[in-house]
Amino acid sequence: MNRNRARVILLNAALGPLDYRVPHGMEVEPGSIVLAPLGPRQLTGVVWEPERLETEEVGDNRLRPLVQLYDLPPLAAPLRRLIEWTADYYLAPIAAVLRMSLASASALDGSRTVIEYRATGRVPDRLTPQRVQALERIGERQGLVRELALAAGVSDAVIRGLVKAGAIEAVEVTVDDPFPFPDPDHDPPRLEAAQSAAAAQFVEAVEAEEFAPFLLDGVTGSGKTEVYFEAIAKSLRKGRQTLVLLPEIALTEPFLKRFTARFGHEPVAWHSGLRQSQRRRAWRAIATGDARVVVGARSALFLPYRNLGLIVVDEAHETSFKQEEGVQYHARDVAVMRAKLERVPVILASATPAIESRQMAEIGVYREVRLPDRYGVAEMPDIRAVDLIQDPPPRGRWLAPLLVAELERNLERGEQSLLFLNRRGYAPLTLCRACGHRFQCPNCTAWMVEHRLVRRLACHHCGHVMPPPRLCPECQEEDSLVPVGPGVERIADEVAAIFPDARRAIVTSDTIWSPAKAAEFVGRMEAGEIDIVIGTQLVTKGYHFPNLTLVGVVDADLGLSGGDLRAAERSFQQIAQVAGRAGRGEKPGRVLVQTHEPAAPVIRALVSGDTESFYQAETDARRGAAMPPFGRLAAIVISSEDAREAEEAARLIGRTAPKVENMAVFGPAPAPLAMLRGRHRQRLLVHAARSLDVQDVIREWLGALTWPRGVRVAVDVDPYSF
Ligand code: ADP
Ligand code: ZN
Repeated sequence: MNRNRARVILLNAALGPLDYRVPHGMEVEPGSIVLAPLGPRQLTGVVWEPERLETEEVGDNRLRPLVQLYDLPPLAAPLRRLIEWTADYYLAPIAAVLRMSLASASALDGSRTVIEYRATGRVPDRLTPQRVQALERIGERQGLVRELALAAGVSDAVIRGLVKAGAIEAVEVTVDDPFPFPDPDHDPPRLEAAQSAAAAQFVEAVEAEEFAPFLLDGVTGSGKTEVYFEAIAKSLRKGRQTLVLLPEIALTEPFLKRFTARFGHEPVAWHSGLRQSQRRRAWRAIATGDARVVVGARSALFLPYRNLGLIVVDEAHETSFKQEEGVQYHARDVAVMRAKLERVPVILASATPAIESRQMAEIGVYREVRLPDRYGVAEMPDIRAVDLIQDPPPRGRWLAPLLVAELERNLERGEQSLLFLNRRGYAPLTLCRACGHRFQCPNCTAWMVEHRLVRRLACHHCGHVMPPPRLCPECQEEDSLVPVGPGVERIADEVAAIFPDARRAIVTSDTIWSPAKAAEFVGRMEAGEIDIVIGTQLVTKGYHFPNLTLVGVVDADLGLSGGDLRAAERSFQQIAQVAGRAGRGEKPGRVLVQTHEPAAPVIRALVSGDTESFYQAETDARRGAAMPPFGRLAAIVISSEDAREAEEAARLIGRTAPKVENMAVFGPAPAPLAMLRGRHRQRLLVHAARSLDVQDVIREWLGALTWPRGVRVAVDVDPYSF
């Protein structure tokens, strides 16, 4: 490498890599994080191996000099390879992937303090409604002006005004305070035989410091967490870092508690809810190796760990590991690739592994480790189907008599119950009885969903909201609007009508939107302050409540409509997971699954417990149709605010589809959400044999085309739903 010249990927530029002159006295290497000039601006970038990235050749004398080398550890080679692989595989710009590694570039300057703001408790002389609102909502919170403004729902200027008025003060926060090291010997459990055997395999793999992908397939409540904690303990003893990926930030709080009980200190958390100062402190500690255990959402995958020793993906089947915006990657798959490049073990833990993961185990690529029984005296719950045709709920209600009777029994015995319905809000659709008008989102092909608790209709795709209408906008009829179908709020109302004294809690992303809210919910459950939980998929994950003994699945048929490739699999996973919340302690659990189709394979598998045949049938169907993991898919989504423009661009792409053996192109056709956030969407689906490098074909195909500026073309490689 020419020492006076550096090839740099700029984080926030649409251009490819650029060459710069390295000024005297500055020493850079691949991975160095630098500040570089571009036009009148200065941008953060990362130095890369010139031989790995092509750019336009520029003579030495025309090069501009780098401005600064940051006082930060350079990104290591395995991470650089991961970034290249991700960009290549998911057909994303390398700068976009790199941004995930650097988290927030503005947070990277050399200073080790950040100025944050917090309320002083002093009341300003002049009080406007906005100021009152700001002070109320800020409470004990601390953060940048921007962060406080966002939290309070006011403009930055209001916060600055309050600073001038003395109601908010500046505080200096140090961002390199060390994190305490978790202690592997703090409070280890006594493992059961099967758990010990599983743990031993992981411990050995951590010791070996080699790539080893594991599928930890253990029924709900079998102690998967305890078992992979042993692998973390080993990694800690070796002084190496561990990354634990969780599907949902709402889950980090219970995880932190459990982790702390086992290891004496909290791990370092990484998720979108962090303040900038927390983010900066965590980033540094990760890069220096001081953050020994990091637990995070999928974005934690691209951080610059100094000496990673182990990766765990918990609830690995979860769909939220698939990122659907920006770089469309699957965190589970990237985690395996990172482990491979870093040469460390990776554990995918799940009670209901994805067919893809099971297949990898089947062909011997992943090592399968099984925990077939629940820990201790806990037994698997008894699952029964409630035939809604034989045993229907009364008119206008959704809980069948059998389920109501079981709820009553649980209330009498002082045990907790959970009703699962994967639908937020009160009703999924609002209809005018007089003229048939339906409330639709103006920006999306979707109904406006009534949320009665906050008194509005909301679009679940773009966030558009409107006040609940009193009369029909089409026929002007009053009191003619009726909610159609149930959401969790409506089920909660039904429960209240039947059991007025039962203490209820609704658990959805509307009520549990932060780790603190999740902690509050867990606390109330553990204290026995809740009798009946009504929740969406958010409650199906990871929770452990020993006194929860009854689960009712309100509508098991919901996930099966739509004809999506993964509908049956996802439905099975969801119901098995929510069923897995029942009877985790000493008392046995019962699960009632309400359905119109008790004979459907998914329901039969759940009731009989014969999950193997179900998985086998699903796998065979996929194999027969050469669908993933036996074949490959990619979706090309073309969108524009102008419907015609989107259609034309889609037709152009369809017309120019290359004729390649082992590949077929379907469409264009309107995408499943034909309009989303005001953009019209067309889609082409590429189906190819596994042996084909479908990315290469798409890259060449789309690379030769141009489209109008308002058109966006996004490729989703290995799409989850389509
Ligand atoms: P999973 O992740 O497989 O659903 P968990 O790890 O949450 O299972 O274990 C279920 C419950 O059993 C937890 O409360 C856990 O602490 C407890 N448990 C599991 N194994 C042990 C053990 N060996 N010793 C003590 N408690 C255990
Ligand atoms: Zn919308």
